[in-house]
Amino acid sequence: MSISDFEAAISQAIDRDELVLHYQPIVSVRTGVLEGFEALVRWDRPGVGLLPPAEFIPVAEKSGLICEIGVWALNNATEQLAAWNRAVGARDLTVAVNVSGRHLNASRIRDDVATALRRSGIDPGRLVLEITETTLVGGVLAMKNLRELRHMGVALSLDDFGAGYNTVEQLTRLPVDIVKIDKDYLDVSTATTRELFRSMVDAVHALGLPVVAEGVEHPDQLELLKAVGVESAQGFAVGLPMAPAELEAHWHASMCV
Ligand code: C2E
Ligand code: CA
Ligand code: CA
Ligand code: CA
Repeated sequence: MSISDFEAAISQAIDRDELVLHYQPIVSVRTGVLEGFEALVRWDRPGVGLLPPAEFIPVAEKSGLICEIGVWALNNATEQLAAWNRAVGARDLTVAVNVSGRHLNASRIRDDVATALRRSGIDPGRLVLEITETTLVGGVLAMKNLRELRHMGVALSLDDFGAGYNTVEQLTRLPVDIVKIDKDYLDVSTATTRELFRSMVDAVHALGLPVVAEGVEHPDQLELLKAVGVESAQGFAVGLPMAPAELEAHWHASMCV
């Protein structure tokens, strides 16, 4: 299948409602209490199965399709949170949506977010937008959009911190509310890597921002998070990304922190 055929297939998938969001729990490190979810897109492709984002997001990024996926994800995730609010009265849960660079650099992002908030009726502070530094490259408009989105009351989370060129110095200039440290830094194998992780956490805390650790797979990683005072944890040891129905079935099961 050529790239353009694949693009057409993705476009059709959006129209045919073949995209689904799975939700991965984010919990408080200290208490283990559920704080919210990250929404992660999958393509339930007929005759093929569930495709992970790595298999179609890069193609969608090369075309405008990523914005369509972004709008769809914003609407879907906020509607899901509203439905959970109604069903279980879980009014303080948050939902984090990944925003692509293309979308963040387009002026429509502000309307798209406003529409999702209005349609779902959720409190703006319950919506977290996850951005990466690559989404900000060269983006004067992106910075303007970030400030306006924040002004609307949504929370901004810098994803994969440490994975690229982001320095703590640059972090001081970004209008973000949360920092997600890249999972590669959650390395407990040596005293040196543990110290490196601690120093990253300390630097983020020095800016007055809370830290989310992603890729938490082992109990000893959770121990490190507790020891260095990380606020929130996400990863296979905490909870897998799950379809809404699966998640609802797990709702009352205890999260292991
Ligand atoms: P990400 O934002 O860094 O998302 C976290 C990825 O790590 C997810 O992969 C998740 O399933 C995986 N993960 C969670 N816990 C663990 C763990 O304990 N260990 C390990 N090794 N991995 C863990 P996934 O769902 O395949 O998503 C991959 C990437 O696709 C995301 O990385 C994000 O950049 C992108 N993506 C996902 N959904 C969307 C979306 O709706 N829009 C856009 N633009 N990008 C998306
Ligand atoms: Ca993310
Ligand atoms: Ca991440
Ligand atoms: Ca990552």
